[in-house]
Amino acid sequence: MSEKDIVIIGGGPGGYVAAIHAAHLGAQVALVEKNRLGGTCLNWGCIPTKALVRSVEVLLEAKRADEFGIEIGSIKANLPRIMARKRGIVDKLVSGVEQLMKANKISVYRGAGRIMSPHLVKVDDTEIATRKIIIATGSESSPLPVDGANLPGVLSTDDILELEELPESLVVIGGSHVGVEFASIFSALGTKTTIVKRRPLLLEPVDEEVGRRFAQGLSRQGIQVIIGAAVKSIKRQGGLLKVVWDTPEGEQGVEGQAVLMATGRRPYSAGLGLEELGVKMEAGAVLVDDCLETNIEDIYAIGDVLGKHMLAHVASYEGEIAAENALGGRRRADYQAVPTCVFTVPVVAGVGITEKEAKERGIPHKVSKFPFLACGRAVAMDETAGIVKMICHAESGKVLGLHIMGPHADDLIAEGALAVRLGATARDVAHTIHAHPTLPEAVQETAMGQLEGSIHFGRS
Ligand SMILES: Cc1cc2nc3c(=O)[nH]c(=O)nc-3n(C[C@H](O)[C@H](O)[C@H](O)COP(=O)(O)OP(=O)(O)OC[C@H]3O[C@@H](n4cnc5c(N)ncnc54)[C@H](O)[C@@H]3O)c2cc1C
Repeated sequence: MSEKDIVIIGGGPGGYVAAIHAAHLGAQVALVEKNRLGGTCLNWGCIPTKALVRSVEVLLEAKRADEFGIEIGSIKANLPRIMARKRGIVDKLVSGVEQLMKANKISVYRGAGRIMSPHLVKVDDTEIATRKIIIATGSESSPLPVDGANLPGVLSTDDILELEELPESLVVIGGSHVGVEFASIFSALGTKTTIVKRRPLLLEPVDEEVGRRFAQGLSRQGIQVIIGAAVKSIKRQGGLLKVVWDTPEGEQGVEGQAVLMATGRRPYSAGLGLEELGVKMEAGAVLVDDCLETNIEDIYAIGDVLGKHMLAHVASYEGEIAAENALGGRRRADYQAVPTCVFTVPVVAGVGITEKEAKERGIPHKVSKFPFLACGRAVAMDETAGIVKMICHAESGKVLGLHIMGPHADDLIAEGALAVRLGATARDVAHTIHAHPTLPEAVQETAMGQLEGSIHFGRS
């Protein structure tokens, strides 16, 4: 039995990125995957949802074509074709990951991996000897344990991605990013959509003010948001499902043809043998140190199984760090600049601290804002809803947080991530020449608002 340098269990964006990076560093790598390569992200998460988001964007633009001087005929969303396009994109990317495994000479083992010791992994009857192990087994959905949760028509996020017929009405339980994204998609496609949430809809860790403005815009899109509702059951009523909760005035509910359980995800490590090995865990999440090593020497863990950020790009970032450390490095994970994006209409994104956090932590800070209404490119695109908000240290001028609601916020946030990561100041951003006319100018103008003032907008 030839010994590997690293065996990685789980082929999602954490595991496959760790495998490729380790191979780039010259290691002999094995990757164990019991399902499809690409994990949740490529198969049931980021990519399929963003394929749907793109169809919705095209639909919404087509509906407004006349405003742009473009005459087109009747416009209709065809769900089976939208879903077929989504499947094609997912398959293309999964096969891309398979090619990358071959190109990097990574041995892929198909099956469920079990850790027998810090230096031995078993996949069915095959044993793989290794110097190090990286656990990258991800997460699973965590449905509300309420009566009726198993009724036909109550969907998980995996199920809703397979729908071939548009429901007339949909109740989304949970206002997480994922819940709000699905609400936005299905509402735009023509489904009457209601979000039911226990706590206010704020889209943390995006800035509260930005989240609040976004929530206010949902009703204009026809999405009803019911907050303060602790769902206690789901009942079938004729052809509909009724989501029920208690209020001081008695039981209340909202009906829908389908119900989406978007109540979050929990770390997944079933069958790995972690308890037997004595790997420290908390509420199902694997505990690691700053270098992503567990309490058992030579076993590392990354991604959703850590139960922290639960984002694909964080899993990949951690994958690179764990691979380097497993090969002798001492790189520490640093989470001060983790961008979060909510792919809705409009898009919302944030990085670094929020204004509320700055106040709570007693950090002397200054806030500046710039509306897309004053950005030439946004006006040309007719996408003027939204703002950019920057939080800087009042003394050093360092950018501590950037929060955006508006066109391409998901792309624009990269400038904020870089600024926070590098400790750049508002002056650094303001003095960087930004191409005109582009949306990043809105970020530059917000930085100017920290200094002498934005050029195209009154002093904030
Ligand atoms: C609907 C939805 C939309 C999302 N959208 C976004 C988004 O837009 N942006 C974003 O950043 N994140 C998004 N996420 C979250 C993102 O998908 C996860 O954060 C990411 O996939 C985590 O990566 P991971 O590698 O840790 O785990 P996963 O992607 O879950 O991969 C884990 C892999 O391990 C395998 N596995 C588990 N146990 C074993 C075993 N014993 N042996 C072998 N294989 C095993 C699983 O089959 C799986 O393939 C979304 C999630 C969902 C559900």
